[in-house]
Amino acid sequence: MAVVGRIYNTVEFRSTWKESFATEHQSNMLTIDGSHREGGGQILRTSLSLSMCRHQPFRIINIRAARRQPGLRPQHLAAVRAAATIAGAKVDGDTIGSRALTFAPGEIQSGAYRFDIGTAGSTTLVLQTVLPALLTAAGSSHLTLTGGTHNPLAPPFEFLQRAFVPLINRMGAKLAVRLDRPGYFPAGGGLLDVRIEPAAQLAPLHLPERGAVHAIRAWATVANLPEHIARRELAVLKERLDLASDDLRAHIEQEAAGPGNVVTVEAACEHITEVFTGFGERGVRAETVSERLAHRVQRYLAAEVAVGEHLADQLLVPMALAGEGAFLTLKLSRHALTNIDVIRSFMDIGIEQHEVAPDRWRVVLQSLR
Ligand code: AMP
Repeated sequence: MAVVGRIYNTVEFRSTWKESFATEHQSNMLTIDGSHREGGGQILRTSLSLSMCRHQPFRIINIRAARRQPGLRPQHLAAVRAAATIAGAKVDGDTIGSRALTFAPGEIQSGAYRFDIGTAGSTTLVLQTVLPALLTAAGSSHLTLTGGTHNPLAPPFEFLQRAFVPLINRMGAKLAVRLDRPGYFPAGGGLLDVRIEPAAQLAPLHLPERGAVHAIRAWATVANLPEHIARRELAVLKERLDLASDDLRAHIEQEAAGPGNVVTVEAACEHITEVFTGFGERGVRAETVSERLAHRVQRYLAAEVAVGEHLADQLLVPMALAGEGAFLTLKLSRHALTNIDVIRSFMDIGIEQHEVAPDRWRVVLQSLR
């Protein structure tokens, strides 16, 4: 069923901005400005993904200009190297701290790859960089990634496995992820195993509503930290989200190289499963970690949307590659808006968003070809 409602606002991303943000040179080299809008690593990662898929060379300048430590950090460099290996790309500027990079891809080679970030940098972000190309490659792939698996400001493993992967699989590919060892910041050392059976062409995905909420579950994990942290986090979630005791789990992780504390809430709905994550931090009370997390879950539940903040920005690339797609989501984040701009600089795709109610937006992607 399509979502009906008054259209409060419509924003279409027209091509006029493109002139200032992305420039195409005579040599067919696209220039991307990494300081655009959000100004973070996602501009680089999405550019790498689409460059690989579209065989489009690009140059990026002002890499991560809006971040405290601008330029390439180990996780970004790992993403560049992984993309370059899989696409047999010619690369210039791939050093730590570099603020400009040129990437000219060759043919995509599926197969077995091992990528080690060398720090606690996010393995899931490196995976998402190369995934679009491998989802439509000629053969299957097996990736082993070492680094962080539960990083603040990146997709945590459970989000990847329970929210992101099932949606990619609905698009016709077969993606399976396994956590062999968790890696928390700052120790890292996590191990992520990924198997990819590609689809010749990704199928469009439409997520117009979430349907009934079947279950809300929470689990709190501590690694090399006292168990009471997990228990206190779950007590707050139980109260704030009105959860049954059976839907709460405390987990003591034995395998991690260093300390870590992650709290996860899963909303299993009729048409989608969403996952929300909070991270324990030194100097922040366990109760506060869960209160902040509960707020995010409550916002999602109150808005009655299908797709939460993070899935929204991460679904845009696969949907664009499928040629069409649509989803009902919260007001788009700066990450999502930035990603839309990057996608439109590589592809002829219309991406529209309509506000159907306060904090409820419908995003529609449609190929212009
Ligand atoms: P950037 O800040 O540009 O490196 O991009 C970070 C990426 O991580 C974006 O795609 C975010 O949506 C994603 N991300 C950050 N936090 C989470 C989270 N808690 N759950 C899922 N994805 C996340």
